[in-house]
Amino acid sequence: MLYADIILPLAIAETFTYSVPQELAEAVAVGVRVVVPLGARKFYTGVVYRLHEQKPPGKRLRSIVSVVDERSVAEAVQLRFWEWLAGYYLCGIGQVMNAAIPAALKSSGFDPALQEGYSPRTETHLVLSEELGTEESFNRALDTLRRAKSQYNALLRLADRLAPPDAPALPSYPKARFIGGGHGSSAVVRELQKKGLIRTVEVAISRMESTEASEASLPVLTEAQQQALDEILRHFGESRTALLHGVTGSGKTEIYIHLIDQSLRAGRDALYLLPEIALTTQLIERLQTYFGGRVVVYHSRFNDNMRAECYLRLLKPDREPMLILGVRSSLLLPHSRLGMVIVDEEHETSYKQQDPAPRYQARDAALVLAGLNGASVVLGSATPAVESYYNAVSGKYGLVTLGERYGGAQLPQVLIADMARAGRRGERTSHFSHLLLHQIEQTLSAGEQVILFQNRRGFSPYLQCGTCSAIPTCPHCNVSLTYHKGDSALVCHYCGHTEGAPRVCPACGAADLQTRGFGTEKVEEELGALFPDARIARLDLDATRSARNYARIVSAFDSGRIDILVGTQMVTKGFDFERVTLVGVLNADNLLNYTDFRASERGFQLMMQVAGRAGRRQTAGRVVIQTFQPEHPVLAQVTAGDYTAMFRSQLAERQRFFYPPYCRLIRFTLKHTQKPILDEASDRFHTTMRHIFGRRLLGPETPVIDKVRNEYLCTFLLKVERDRSFAEAKTLAQKVIVQLSEQPGWGSLTIVADIDPM
Ligand code: ADP
Ligand code: ZN
Repeated sequence: MLYADIILPLAIAETFTYSVPQELAEAVAVGVRVVVPLGARKFYTGVVYRLHEQKPPGKRLRSIVSVVDERSVAEAVQLRFWEWLAGYYLCGIGQVMNAAIPAALKSSGFDPALQEGYSPRTETHLVLSEELGTEESFNRALDTLRRAKSQYNALLRLADRLAPPDAPALPSYPKARFIGGGHGSSAVVRELQKKGLIRTVEVAISRMESTEASEASLPVLTEAQQQALDEILRHFGESRTALLHGVTGSGKTEIYIHLIDQSLRAGRDALYLLPEIALTTQLIERLQTYFGGRVVVYHSRFNDNMRAECYLRLLKPDREPMLILGVRSSLLLPHSRLGMVIVDEEHETSYKQQDPAPRYQARDAALVLAGLNGASVVLGSATPAVESYYNAVSGKYGLVTLGERYGGAQLPQVLIADMARAGRRGERTSHFSHLLLHQIEQTLSAGEQVILFQNRRGFSPYLQCGTCSAIPTCPHCNVSLTYHKGDSALVCHYCGHTEGAPRVCPACGAADLQTRGFGTEKVEEELGALFPDARIARLDLDATRSARNYARIVSAFDSGRIDILVGTQMVTKGFDFERVTLVGVLNADNLLNYTDFRASERGFQLMMQVAGRAGRRQTAGRVVIQTFQPEHPVLAQVTAGDYTAMFRSQLAERQRFFYPPYCRLIRFTLKHTQKPILDEASDRFHTTMRHIFGRRLLGPETPVIDKVRNEYLCTFLLKVERDRSFAEAKTLAQKVIVQLSEQPGWGSLTIVADIDPM
């Protein structure tokens, strides 16, 4: 008797065993989806994980009902990867499967022809009818059209298109292109169809933009770039992983292009991972000029059919090697023949999935995936994560440094604007130091462009009543509502709750609500008053709800139709604008004052990234950083552009206070809608965990925002020594979680374990 262990889309760690009925024995294979019963009258689609002949003891087994796929949708490499993700990030393998297989493929058959959920996009094509297969019959058909000149011509032209003299024959020709090309009107085509001389067929075509562009030869590397490439290749021989530390504008992308090319030539795929905001049209087009139709782009904005198409495309058995360019989740596509993995901007926190499970760190998981594929990895950044740089200097990865910008462009000059001092001396207008205003003026009159960075969107982070000091907060989250002036609304940036902006204080009724702090919207408004002749635009989540709007703003800035671009994080990544010579950081303090142990590192990375937008060509750029703490050590490191200084000081702090890379972290978040139950559960968690882990457990801590979407939150942090078994610690913690979750009366208690939190 044959048994199958099945992965079901449930938050349960194990697989489920079913018996394989005789008549399905041939069709059931590892990686194939099957339908199985579970519980009283539920059916699930799951993936076969393992086939074996050991009947599990005791239980009466149920049977597989039917087989969905003819071919495996998850090859052995993938199943190993899922297994690793589930084990390492403490979740069910079914949750990993859920994240990996696009929904359009979940509900139905795998072969596109059978499917209901996934529908390939089709195009109507014209073919000659089978009766015209020989030259003789074709000529006879033409004869019958002697008196219908346009039909006669159209039939001849279609035959020409299908069998061109100087190119391979085509099975069919797109109807729209035929008519659009003036080869025959739609009425003529209809007549020919009626006479049975031609037929239409529906042909599946790709939703992905395919470019027929001829493929350009690779960029010629500078000496420094060539040397970096050689070093990377040398490191591959030893550790398979290299960290490329290259300043902004040094041409890391050019080096990636060479590495990708090598992989494709060797018949292996390349995976190029990017944070969401760095996946720009600029970059996609640049890669398409070299790799043409072999570029597959995977965006998080893709709808499900497009995801399904990507997934299916990778599974095709005899396809040519491809470059998959994508965000975090593209790691979960069915990769089984990777030769090269590139993780660009590897320090970016958005590589960490927050919710739902699997809460994976794509950079770290990419190393595992590469290992399973026998692929090499390059992590690239101008400001590597402290952990990655530590791995490099301690010899785990190869370290390659590229310290100069392409074309001799200078690194920008950084000026610190002391806002307190400027205030005392009357050298400040609202949120702008006169130093910054003066620089903006100069830049504009030189016909150059400005980027201003403020990491808060909206008009002001909160409103406050000048009479009673009340602050309007979100009814679902314990956080102030952000005022959006353009929409005249108060918006919660945690849950999205939106309400009309009140005219009077909701608490005391006084018409005395004042705006506090400032966001991008307010910066934009005030700039408009200060520089009435400048063309100003804003790039943030609100201004770019639609992809089209985003592209419109970026291209307007690129072509010089905008002088000043005000934005959030969005302006810091992946852009390469020639005319930008001034960058302003409006409020460095809210980048530096987080209580997180990574705050200084993050502040450094962000300011260096945004500074990197200035002066990418011959003209040296300038950066003005406004702050109330000009003495902050990170600002000195940014001014000097000194990554290693930041690294050394941060490493010393991490060692002293025992943080990664000196230990590993798990963050536990307990959530419940009732505060008393949360407190009780938190007490119990604390006692039980302390009993096992002693002082390695920190907390409970109440997060700054201690209520989100109607759930109260508290967190714990577990620090595990490097020389202890992390796996064992996770198993022990998992037991406590299960035990607490089963406590009667705590039904809706959620405990989330976040491994390597960021
Ligand atoms: P990074 O990714 O390190 O920030 P980029 O790869 O975006 O840098 O390069 C910065 C700019 O310099 C881009 O406009 C790029 O086209 C140009 N560039 C870099 N290296 C070369 C090269 N070898 N040949 C031509 N242009 C280059
Ligand atoms: Zn809210």
